Amino acid sequence: SYFTNAKFATSAPDIRHLMADEGIEVAFAGRSNAGKSSALNALTRQKNLARTSKTPGRTQLINVFDLDEHRRLVDLPGYGFAQVPITMKKKWQIALGEYLQKRESLRGLVVLMDIRHPFKDLDQDLIHWAVDAELPVLALLTKSDKLKSGKRKQQLLMAREAALAFCGDVTVHTFSALNKQGLSEVEGVLRQWLQL
Ligand code: GDP
Repeated sequence: SYFTNAKFATSAPDIRHLMADEGIEVAFAGRSNAGKSSALNALTRQKNLARTSKTPGRTQLINVFDLDEHRRLVDLPGYGFAQVPITMKKKWQIALGEYLQKRESLRGLVVLMDIRHPFKDLDQDLIHWAVDAELPVLALLTKSDKLKSGKRKQQLLMAREAALAFCGDVTVHTFSALNKQGLSEVEGVLRQWLQL
């Protein structure tokens, strides 16, 4: 798959220090522990592209992975740490809102949420900002292997119902980094966004 070409390009301390707004990119966001690193590793077939299970509360960088000269994946820091000071949270929210609104090269946002508890407050905020910015959203219900097939389908239907309330281009799929369930669907959406 095209995504196996992914190579670490750079880290940035925050969104305002990202590379020039050229080419096209897709961003990945989610609460810490949602399975974002595992999903990026599964997508790119690389074991350690994105590091999994970081220490909670530590300052995290934005990591950028190049697919080719024009296309890249942007791994945004996980959110939702209880320990992070409120001023830092506010700063991050403002910067994130700005990024979603103003970044020309940004073609879509993947929001990763644990299938057992999707659409928490910050997830919803993020999706609202993306929809406001007319950006397509892929809501990924991660760790789908944790649920039996009946419960998994039920969660997916509920999430698709919830997604309608955002009144935007919000696609929902289930995904497992463990057994690769949903991987081809994710690749399909990303290939479309990245014009691959
Ligand atoms: P991140 O903080 O969002 O980058 O989350 P990680 O990718 O580090 O995953 C957090 C935890 O969930 C780790 O213990 C992973 O092994 C586990 N995890 C991630 N994806 C899956 C999955 O698809 N299935 C299962 N069973 N566990 C997963």
